[in-house]
Order: sequence, then structure tokens, then C-alpha cells
Amino acid sequence: MKRVLVLVGGGHAHVEVLRQLALNPPTDIDVALFDPSPSVWYSAMLPGVIAGHYEPSDAKINLWALCQRARVRFFQTPVLSINAETQRIETGLGERHRFDLLSVDVGSVTRELPAAPGAYIVAAKPFDPLLNAITEFESVRTGALTVRVVGGGATAVEVALALAYRWRGATNRRIAIVSATPLLKDFPSRVRRAARHACKRLNVTLRENSRVQQVDPTRLRLQSGEQIDTQLTILATGYGAAPLLNKTIITGIPAESIPVNRQLQCKTHPNIFAAGDCAQIEGLSVPKAGVFAVRQGPILAHNLLAIARGQALQSYRHSSQALSLITLGEKRAVAVRSGLSADGEWAWRWKDSIDRKWMEKYAPGQ
Ligand SMILES: Cc1cc2nc3c(=O)[nH]c(=O)nc-3n(C[C@H](O)[C@H](O)[C@H](O)COP(=O)(O)OP(=O)(O)OC[C@H]3O[C@@H](n4cnc5c(N)ncnc54)[C@H](O)[C@@H]3O)c2cc1C
Repeated sequence: MKRVLVLVGGGHAHVEVLRQLALNPPTDIDVALFDPSPSVWYSAMLPGVIAGHYEPSDAKINLWALCQRARVRFFQTPVLSINAETQRIETGLGERHRFDLLSVDVGSVTRELPAAPGAYIVAAKPFDPLLNAITEFESVRTGALTVRVVGGGATAVEVALALAYRWRGATNRRIAIVSATPLLKDFPSRVRRAARHACKRLNVTLRENSRVQQVDPTRLRLQSGEQIDTQLTILATGYGAAPLLNKTIITGIPAESIPVNRQLQCKTHPNIFAAGDCAQIEGLSVPKAGVFAVRQGPILAHNLLAIARGQALQSYRHSSQALSLITLGEKRAVAVRSGLSADGEWAWRWKDSIDRKWMEKYAPGQ
């Protein structure tokens, strides 16, 4: 009988697994993918979608089509629980499926803040509700409207600037970043300067060292006791566990992330693998960012087939010196690597060509 490999979530690492299966569809393994959506966003292009530089379809990978090419069965449903002992998953369709091998790449969600009923609040991740909230907000045309983006990292900066660029002609909409710390505090000073200049150019106001305690319907309550107005609050407050992880019994207790070794393999259950934001790799501190899920993809693809066939596994090698490209609303970006940085339109064009090349690999017909 064929062994059953279940892929949970069509994240950045799993799309590479699917691509490699499509290049060489296995005849000895039965593979299935479970995801509530037939497509997945490519995170690097999300700010460009908000800004209007890309159509939503430019930034989405069609999971269904990839599965067709790879001869993988696609189930459009969330996985609600995983039980490592019984080797079964339970899906949103009320079905249970058995697995021999399991791989989890379900990402993460934005950390929440306390919010009062009636507060108009939306997280940066998952992305669909954010895009819907932005377009709904656009239909309100009367009165002055303030959008507060809460957070001080790259996501907050990119979302606020992209929104400011999208609404550059609208005089009644104001965008402000509210950060508990100095803006981009972990980045070199040149990056911080580039972000501040971009905020000035696009009229995004900055409020740093201001921790938000609660979101009320038309106000943000700050730790200092001050209250500031808001009509739409966007949370870019860092990433926490995907809801499935509360129902994932692998280590005996539900955890924030799935602990794996450098082969991306669960130490207690060698038939279970995890990658991307939902994995915690032993001895490494890997930021929750799509770029690292992308780098884990080829290792995961190799290891899933290797373990099924009794072959040697490969190890993920992490580099904290990865190139980081932060977009600045307009077609400009700032590039950072190993503490060195530079910004300009050229950086955006460079990022655009990297991103489009990456997307091409997963386009139908490739
Ligand atoms: C606005 C914004 C901009 C960003 N920009 C960048 C950037 O420029 N560079 C960068 O490196 N990172 C960026 N990030 C971070 C990036 O989005 C994440 O780190 C990345 O998506 C993680 O990839 P992943 O493979 O772990 O999971 P994801 O890409 O999040 O994929 C998870 C998949 O799992 C599915 N899923 C979830 N729950 C279940 C379930 N229960 N059952 C089945 N399927 C499930 C989801 O539908 C989804 O398809 C950005 C994030 C945001 C919000």
C-alpha cells in the first residue's frame, strides 16, 4: 500500500514541495494538501498590492493548479486538529484523515490587542480581511478619517506607507503609525532615516514610544493614559501562533510553534515535519518572515521524499545576514544586509524583479 503524506497549509515552504512534486510526480507516495483557500498570498508583494503597484492576482499562488500538476489531492478546508499519536487529522468538513507522514506550514497570525466591542480593528495577517477593510473604508467619503497602524516593525512601516501612497490624492484620510518603541529599532540608522523621510513625503505621522493598551470604538487608549482618535486600527504588532497550533497534540501539550530539528523534523515524532512561521527550529532564532519559509522549502521537499524512501535527510542552514528589502510606499525601497543599507527607486526595481521571478516558478504552465 502507498504511504500517505499529508501537507497541512499551502505556505511558502509547501508551494516549493508542490513544485518539486510536479517536476517529478512520485508513484510510491499518495500526497494530499489541506488549505481553506485555493490560493496563497506571496507576502513580499503584499505592500505592493495595497499601494496598487500590483493586482491581487499578481501576488497569489494558485494552490489548486499546483496540486493538479503535482498529482496531489487538494482539499479546500482547514485542518482543525492534529493528533500525532493516532496519526490522524480532523478537517473543517468533519472528516478524519490518516497519515503516515505529515508536514505543517500554516504560518502565523498577527498578535491581538484588547479591543472593546464596536472597535473597527483589523490585523495585517491574515491579509484578506485587511484588504477588505481598506476597500470598505474607501467607500466612506465624508468627514476626516484617521487610520492608526499599530506597530513599529517593517510590516507596520510598509503597510502605513503603502496605504498613504494608495490614498495620496484623498485629503480627508490621515494615516499614523503608533509604535511602542522607536520605529524600526532593530534596523541600522540609515534604514530608520529612509523610513522617516518616506513618512514625511507621504504625510504619515509617527508616534513613537507610545504603547497602545486597548482599542475602543473611536479611540486608542495609550499606556500613558492619553487617548487618541482612530476610525480604523490596523494591527502590525508581531506574529503569534496560528489557531491550529492550539489543537495540535504533538509534544503532549499545545504549543506556540512546532519544535523541530534542523532537518525540520519533529524530534518526538520523526514522521512529522514543520516549516515557516509555525516551526521552532532547535538552537536557532528564525524571525517569522516569508523569506525564511522560502529557504526552508527545498530542504523540506527533499526530506519529505527522503524519509519516505529511507534516504539521508538534509539540514537547513540559517543565515541571519539575509537580504531584507523594505518598501517605502512609492516605487522605492530600502535594502539592508549585514548592517549595510541603501535606498532608492533602483532597490524597488531590484525587489520587483526578484519577486516576479519567484512568482513565475509557481505560475500555471511552469
Ligand atoms: C503586510 C505584510 C507584509 C509582509 N512582508 C514580508 C516581506 O516582505 N518579507 C517577508 O519575508 N515576510 C513578510 N511578511 C511576513 C510573511 O507574511 C510571513 O512570515 C509568511 O507568510 C510566512 O510564511 P509561511 O509559509 O509560514 O505561512 P503562510 O504564507 O502564512 O501560509 C500559511 C498557509 O496555511 C494555511 N492555513 C492556515 N491555517 C490552516 C489550517 N488550520 N489548515 C490548513 N491550512 C491552514 C493558510 O491558508 C495559508 O495558505 C509580511 C507580512 C505581512 C502581513
